[in-house]
Amino acid sequence: MMIATLRETGNETRVAITPHTAKQYIKSGFNVAVEENAGCAAGFANEAYEQIGARIIKDRSSLLKQTNILLCLNEPIPKDLEGLPQNTLIIGHFDNTPEEPLIPWCQKKQITLLSMNLIPRISRAQSMDSLSSQANLAGYKAVLEAVSAFHRVVPMMMTAAGMIQPAKVLVLGAGVAGLQAIATAKRLGAIVYAFDVRRAAKEQVESLGAEFVEVNQDQDSEIQGGYASESSEEYKQKQAELIDDFAKRADIVISTALIPGRKAPVLVYKKTVEQMKPGSVIVDLATSRGGNCELSERDKIIKHGEVTLIGLSNLAGLVPATASELYANNLVHLINLLSTKPSEIHFNPDDEIIQQAVLCHQGNYLPFQVAKENNHA
Ligand code: NAD
Repeated sequence: MMIATLRETGNETRVAITPHTAKQYIKSGFNVAVEENAGCAAGFANEAYEQIGARIIKDRSSLLKQTNILLCLNEPIPKDLEGLPQNTLIIGHFDNTPEEPLIPWCQKKQITLLSMNLIPRISRAQSMDSLSSQANLAGYKAVLEAVSAFHRVVPMMMTAAGMIQPAKVLVLGAGVAGLQAIATAKRLGAIVYAFDVRRAAKEQVESLGAEFVEVNQDQDSEIQGGYASESSEEYKQKQAELIDDFAKRADIVISTALIPGRKAPVLVYKKTVEQMKPGSVIVDLATSRGGNCELSERDKIIKHGEVTLIGLSNLAGLVPATASELYANNLVHLINLLSTKPSEIHFNPDDEIIQQAVLCHQGNYLPFQVAKENNHA
């Protein structure tokens, strides 16, 4: 059985199989094939794969014809997958959008699609949780990007030439990326404030030594899975005033707020940006979902007055070796779950991870979720 990966398209730098994970698959009885140069942008040369027994294949269509499991980072377009055999399993970060071409194409071709975006956030699935492994790196890199664009230094310094005040960092959204941003900014010596609509975030923020900023109201927006829900209009109004107040005093704002299945909430308005200090920096991690700042633009670094707005959507891709290693490890854990016998794949319909993450199988859309409902009927 052949596990393979392609060279990702666009400006993606990460790769889904590293030489280290290729070795693990081979040890488990799989064959491994990697499209030529797929690992180069992450620092993994073709020779590094070949040395451990993986095949480097130049001709994409020849690679696809031999593939049984295709590991991806981002959603491929069907025309780039022509030639994949029936019953192939494709794993990657796919949205549950049955109106987009990939899901109908996989249904028609009887190809199985498993989305890393849909792996449940449960303890048992932590080792497969690539949303967390990548968001953690994005939070770290967001702070480094902000700091290098910032006109001043971050920590307090007492020098003979004078005393330097520490920078103030405001983190909006204290999920996985936000908590890592807080930890990174603290390590650099910043004074950190953080805001989240979930009450549970307060304790986590405080345990990292940051101050939790709260809207003084009886609302907790946490829903199942630890995610946030949409807030009321009254809450949003109070939240906007609070963020406006803190952002004006901050040197760096890192925004990471997301609501599953929706556009990202707008938290930093134009009028706030216009009142921020000259030289301040905003890093908006939510630009792929519309952005948390009214002015940020996806994959662009722009200036509004004297404020720098960084809207890079693939921050984990700026540390491609680490990001690939973690993602590739997430995939190994998932393949281990699926392959009960060496080099064989089995979808246990009673497993919550399979139920939630398999988007289509044998031509059916969300096949195991349906099976679960029927079982309960
Ligand atoms: P996410 O990317 O969906 O959202 C990021 C953060 O934005 C969240 O903390 C959310 O509450 C916050 N947010 C949403 N709207 C906001 C607003 N208007 N203002 C301010 N903040 C707002 O979240 P995530 O990082 O993927 O984490 C989601 C949840 O899953 C968290 O509770 C996290 O602790 C939990 N989690 C659990 C596990 C596990 O147990 N295995 C693993 C990872 C994450």
